[in-house]
Amino acid sequence: MDSKLASQVERLIEEKTGQPAQIRDGSRSGGGCINDAQRIVLEDGRDFFLKSNPRPLPGMFPREAEALEKMAEVNAIRVPHPVGTGGEDRGETPFILMEYIPTGSAKSGFHESFGRQFAQFHIQSKSDRFGFDHDNYLGSTPQPNGWEDDWVEFWRKHRLGFQLDLARRNGLSDPTMDRLGEKLMDRLPELIAEPAEPSCLLHGDLWGGNYLSDDKGEPVLIDPAAYYGRREADLAMTMLFGGFNSTFYSAYEEVWPLEDGSRDRLEIYKLHHLLNHLNLFGGGYYSGCVSILRRYAG
Ligand code: ADP
Repeated sequence: MDSKLASQVERLIEEKTGQPAQIRDGSRSGGGCINDAQRIVLEDGRDFFLKSNPRPLPGMFPREAEALEKMAEVNAIRVPHPVGTGGEDRGETPFILMEYIPTGSAKSGFHESFGRQFAQFHIQSKSDRFGFDHDNYLGSTPQPNGWEDDWVEFWRKHRLGFQLDLARRNGLSDPTMDRLGEKLMDRLPELIAEPAEPSCLLHGDLWGGNYLSDDKGEPVLIDPAAYYGRREADLAMTMLFGGFNSTFYSAYEEVWPLEDGSRDRLEIYKLHHLLNHLNLFGGGYYSGCVSILRRYAG
């Protein structure tokens, strides 16, 4: 870490904790997908987790801090407490500083506990609107979060419609995908309007790489793309790339069972993430997208 970044971080810790801070040691942890990530240790033994990036997407770290703060407030599942962010306004290296989570092996019953806590996270954050205070990012794709009272409208404008437009602009769609996309958008009310569940706070990007097991073997959520939406959209992402076993889902449903017809709705919510992967990583995701589109647009 360069000395300018170190002194910015020390200043932030002093400001937020009221105690002098001098960084003793910076041991790099396995980098993230996007940013430099490391545990830092102070002379007095306190430790923190630092992510920095000389050229982050605009507002990326403040948006992450805001999401972690909201998720921690729900108090249902552990989330690293954000300490603060810096660098962005001053033309220095932007960063986010948060609680360091020492990791350990998942305890027996980890997935059961995780499923139960994740359902509690959704239940305890119920709300009546869809969106979030600011736009944020899904991976490195901008994620629009303008508030809506209606879930279908929110999903049409800010999720599926947004990703379909992006694929068109990126030259990653073709006339077949565009036509099926239009048809699916028309059918959205039949497909996802019911059941009229409330919104709740979603992690927004929960795949197997976005949770940790802490030193007590309990789950911790990291790296969110948070917004208020319907919970099935969160569960759909967990089903796409592995990392969650059947115990997770049965424990979730013991706390808050899914309503009839969830299987089809989950496919629509998966489509959104597959489209995002198409936009981020290219054509390998095309056929997965079109296969869901064909099944539900007809
Ligand atoms: P990126 O934003 O670059 O994708 P992540 O937030 O996924 O970075 O973090 C990168 C890695 O650092 C994670 O996979 C995880 O192993 C570790 N990590 C993330 N947050 C913490 C934390 N608060 N404490 C300890 N380790 C963390």
